[in-house]
Amino acid sequence: EAQALRTWIDVAPTTTDGVAITIAANLGSVDEIAQAQAAGAMGVGLFRTEFLFMNRNDLPTEDEQLDVYKSLLLAFPDHPVIIRTLDIGADKPVRSLALSREDNPFLGVRGIRLCLARPDLFKPQLRALLRAAPFGRLHVMLPMVADTGEIDATRALIDQCRSELIQEGKTAADFVLGIMVETPAAVFAAETLARKVRFFSIGTNDLTQYVMAADRLNPGVAELCRVDQPAVLSAIRMVCTAAEKAGIWVGVCGEAAGDAAVAQHFIAAGVTELSMAPASILKMKSAVSGYIRG
Ligand code: PEP
Ligand code: MG
Repeated sequence: EAQALRTWIDVAPTTTDGVAITIAANLGSVDEIAQAQAAGAMGVGLFRTEFLFMNRNDLPTEDEQLDVYKSLLLAFPDHPVIIRTLDIGADKPVRSLALSREDNPFLGVRGIRLCLARPDLFKPQLRALLRAAPFGRLHVMLPMVADTGEIDATRALIDQCRSELIQEGKTAADFVLGIMVETPAAVFAAETLARKVRFFSIGTNDLTQYVMAADRLNPGVAELCRVDQPAVLSAIRMVCTAAEKAGIWVGVCGEAAGDAAVAQHFIAAGVTELSMAPASILKMKSAVSGYIRG
């Protein structure tokens, strides 16, 4: 079985009706690069940068971030590397930041909301990303987006960072900007959002909890918090329809992307990239080649 799966390492899979599907890796640190390469990952579909900020008493500097982003890009020269901007708050605490206590942290200042409220945090990351961009096919995505203003405000900050870098005589290159779709607002506004970015990546972990109003960490509502709930699958189909109209591609980077029992639904909806833990990559390359886009 393991031996048979190894034959998939260098394969770029297509569905039975010929649609090419990218199988990429979800990573939380550079230590996982080797495992992803060994599994035949077609690039990185989600790099969770918050792990650079967690379990330490200080914040990573711009140069430290640059080194990490550069290593990722150099490790996957032939494929896109999607780096997610800082997604902290709620289930992702950072002890070096004294964040205010909130009654409803999952509905609070997390993800892109926190970054826009704290340019002192966000700008060094954007500067590091602009400086890393010349080293590969850098894609950057924003977590927890709920309205177009967040994309506009981020673009304004990116422009500001780029001008500052140029003035300082540093090299800065552009990257491809996308967003995660993980709030119901992003689903309902998908047509408008799709005109502002180059790709969508559906975060099924959060999208499921917000669509179903069922905490992803609470075992008491685990039966509701399922990606194969009809309401969640319907949301995913809406997102794909909106993306297709705007001519942008859609990936899935939540845990469900590595679950062969549900991923066929995503492919049928129009998803063309699945990003997952490296341990699931070979299994999903094999599974996807038996799917039908229809
Ligand atoms: C998601 O919400 O599906 C996702 C990929 O992001 P995270 O699990 O890091 O919140
Ligand atoms: Mg999420």
